[in-house]
Amino acid sequence: MISQPDCVSLTCTVGGASATLDQVMINMLQLFKQFEDDIAIIGLTDAYGPEAAALGVEPMSTDFDLSNPDGFILDESNPSLNLPTRVLFPAIASDVIAAINFAKEHGLEISVKNSGHSYTGSSSKKDTLLLNMNKYTQYSPTGITDCDESVVLDSEIAQDLSNQSCHLSVAKNKPAVLRVGGGENFDKVYRAVTNANKAQEGGYKYHLVGGAAGTVSPMGWTWLGGLGGTTGSRLYGLGVDQVVQIEMILPNGHHVKFGPTEWEDAEGFIVPKTTLVTGVCRSNPEEVDEEKWVWETCPDDFNIDFNDLWLAVRGGGGGTWGVVTSVLLQLHDYLPYHKYQWNKDSPTDECTALDPLWNEFKAMYLIMPSLLNVTKEMSYACSSPDVSFLLNCYGEDDVVPAFSRLLSDRNIPDAATDCLSKTAWNDFAEGGVNGDADRYPGQVGDSPNPSPAVGSLGGSILVPQSWIEENWDTFLDKYLNINGLGPSPYYSFGGASSTASDQANSLSQAHREAALMTASFVIDDNALADFWANIAPDMFDTSNESKFPPIVSSNHASSLISRPLKEDWAKPCPSKLTFEERDANCISFSEVIYGTDRLKRLEEIKLAVDPTFMFDCEHCILNNRPKSATIQEEEEEVENNEVDVEEGGDVVLADSGSVSLGGTTLLFAVLTVGLLPSVLSLQW
Ligand SMILES: Cc1cc2nc3c(=O)[nH]c(=O)nc-3n(C[C@H](O)[C@H](O)[C@H](O)COP(=O)(O)OP(=O)(O)OC[C@H]3O[C@@H](n4cnc5c(N)ncnc54)[C@H](O)[C@@H]3O)c2cc1C
Repeated sequence: MISQPDCVSLTCTVGGASATLDQVMINMLQLFKQFEDDIAIIGLTDAYGPEAAALGVEPMSTDFDLSNPDGFILDESNPSLNLPTRVLFPAIASDVIAAINFAKEHGLEISVKNSGHSYTGSSSKKDTLLLNMNKYTQYSPTGITDCDESVVLDSEIAQDLSNQSCHLSVAKNKPAVLRVGGGENFDKVYRAVTNANKAQEGGYKYHLVGGAAGTVSPMGWTWLGGLGGTTGSRLYGLGVDQVVQIEMILPNGHHVKFGPTEWEDAEGFIVPKTTLVTGVCRSNPEEVDEEKWVWETCPDDFNIDFNDLWLAVRGGGGGTWGVVTSVLLQLHDYLPYHKYQWNKDSPTDECTALDPLWNEFKAMYLIMPSLLNVTKEMSYACSSPDVSFLLNCYGEDDVVPAFSRLLSDRNIPDAATDCLSKTAWNDFAEGGVNGDADRYPGQVGDSPNPSPAVGSLGGSILVPQSWIEENWDTFLDKYLNINGLGPSPYYSFGGASSTASDQANSLSQAHREAALMTASFVIDDNALADFWANIAPDMFDTSNESKFPPIVSSNHASSLISRPLKEDWAKPCPSKLTFEERDANCISFSEVIYGTDRLKRLEEIKLAVDPTFMFDCEHCILNNRPKSATIQEEEEEVENNEVDVEEGGDVVLADSGSVSLGGTTLLFAVLTVGLLPSVLSLQW
């Protein structure tokens, strides 16, 4: 039997003995390798592998057999079996409506899952009815609508919002919109855009902003904010900025679609400011044929403000406002893609010696371009996820000449430019398909590949551009090269990431003002103490004791992100506290992401949209609320209801089988894998 860590508190136990978090990570790594023994776990092997023996961690059993029903996977006492056991696979909107009505009737909570990548496990809460969206209708293969300016100019926005997205896209100078289903992932969506591009007579036409990995979905990625370090966020904005219309089923069971219908020019922004959001409800929810759907004004007792919903869904997290069934995303005018890689394919000692210089060059190019005599426009053409050796650029850039100039300034022979390779691709999908050809032939691969530790300890601190400018030398000396060519800062900020906001989304101002995102300030206890005592007050406005500022980015934030004590923001939350104690004593997970003011607004909207907490996902808005006796009683009642449901009625919740709830047959399945959610994210 494998010693699986029990992490009820931050002091975990492995094999009966207490273990540090590092030990837990090593065990997770070993377990994960047994799923995918060919996997390259970027950063992790270096970070933990060599230290495993020194830490005295017993390796897990190597004869672990996934198919062994007596093994730990199916062991009910396994503490990691914290996942839903009842799963529905909705295929059309009516299925989701039926599932929500069923949950309402039987007092169930709902989890919504696409890839399962959520670092906080927000897509897979124990004891909920899981809606796995992977079988949901795919729209992207035929989902592009060209937005013809002349047509839009001559028309009003239709009452059923059928042409709203093109009106908005034309106002934003965008050529087209793409409809994406609630269960699609970026592999499918990128390839749909590529196929549409290839079909164009005049050559490639469209560009889509999205995540770095094929398995990540345009759902969770977008609703958490969406950092496009590989697809040009600095040119085109972050994930939430790409959305022009949302279609979803709300906790009240209404099928709605909504988007901006009024806007105005905004100084300092490259897109208009949204001034009114309008929504409509589907008046024939039982209709399965989409051609016959009827969208009308919502009934009088609907009571949800679409302006609030627009703000909350775009940045306020997925899975907590309802189920998104499709979204209309803006497409951008096409620009060719090229990828720079430092010392990658055949590394040499000479190039390796220059790794720190490359890191410095990259930081200068992306966040302090004037130091290299590079224009901001050239700088914004490039961005980079937290992978040191990579730089992704669109259209024209100045990378090689600028690097050559730096070499000359530092008296280094120009031959060092040979350490830098440039690969031109038609688009990101083409590079992605070819980049991971062995692992996922024909599909856009993952970068990085999923691993049990991605984000687990990461700080995701959003470092303001103003702080970088004032502390450039300190940043270079102390924080930039901390990981060598391991994980580097995440550069998808500045440029359009600051200016492409419609000012009606919930992404924090820290995202808009950031130069980069990094864990470099929180890598160990000393760094943590220094960060909260000295650096955070310098980076962020902590002067008002009743308003904690937003500091952390949510896409990569795990349950373990660093936060300070409530009573003393200059001190980190001690790592020996249990999760419950952390919630009681430390600034909340959501507050370090949104800041006090924005969080309060989101909490008000949550209460209006989902007053019974049907969508109460892990670490989502108000998930940390004190659970009163009444709520506990409610939970007991839910358990009773589950028993009732299993025993009676014409719908049977079984561990496997099928039942007709809505328009199509919904399949139930038992989750047979009981690992942490990040491990479960290996769906394709
Ligand atoms: C390999 C890898 C690469 C990554 N690359 C990037 C990157 O380049 N940029 C970046 O910003 N982040 C990246 N991330 C982080 C990523 O943004 C988050 O893990 C995100 O939660 C993934 O969303 P998902 O929908 O794929 O995952 P899920 O875990 O399925 O969902 C995440 C959240 O969205 C909700 N959700 C999912 N589908 C729906 C739906 N249809 N309706 C309503 N809610 C829904 C879930 O309930 C959950 O709360 C990466 C993660 C991994 C593992």
